[in-house]
Amino acid sequence: MPRLTPDDDSQQILKATRGTAIELYKGEAIRITNLHGSQVVDTWAVNLLDSSECGALEHTRSINSNIFFETDMTLVSNLRRPMLTLIEDTSPGRHDTLLCPCNSAIYQELGCTDYHRSCTDNFHEALAERGVACSYTPASLNLFMNIPVADDGSVQRVPPRSKPGDSVTLLAEMDVLVVLSACPQDITPINGAERQPSDIAWVIQPLRAQE
Ligand SMILES: [Zn+2]
Repeated sequence: MPRLTPDDDSQQILKATRGTAIELYKGEAIRITNLHGSQVVDTWAVNLLDSSECGALEHTRSINSNIFFETDMTLVSNLRRPMLTLIEDTSPGRHDTLLCPCNSAIYQELGCTDYHRSCTDNFHEALAERGVACSYTPASLNLFMNIPVADDGSVQRVPPRSKPGDSVTLLAEMDVLVVLSACPQDITPINGAERQPSDIAWVIQPLRAQE
């Protein structure tokens, strides 16, 4: 697959409500910056050579023995192979692994009668732009998404704890497509109390060369 994403270290912008697929080769890292502080970023990893291998949150929770995703934890695939490791996190460090990516059915449940963009559509559209198809929608790693879990197992959907400029850095453990979706959710407050989706930024870091 030809590399379509920039090789330089210039920061790229992902517009609010949109998605993108980014080649990330083993040893490289991607830093994702929450420009406005309260934007959830649904994130997937797809094996660059075989789209049947994707990041699997059920195995990720099992490997990490944790329902959140914190520094030094690894997103593993449905084959339990390491895909992405969280190597740096300047946010207060709450990222959700439990809830599904939004899709058209959710927006219908919330009362939408017209088309509403969704993270699920962003995932498939971003892959399609790279000529890649995935036969299902894997669960997403929901960066910056703040889903407190109570002792009785109930969950809440509350605004992110992150501040403008907070970032996370993910190291590729294999060659992957990283798919990012700046979540279009504007009905519940998961993207902040203003319910206003916003742009995010990302940049590829040739991390190993810097060590
Ligand atoms: Zn979403």
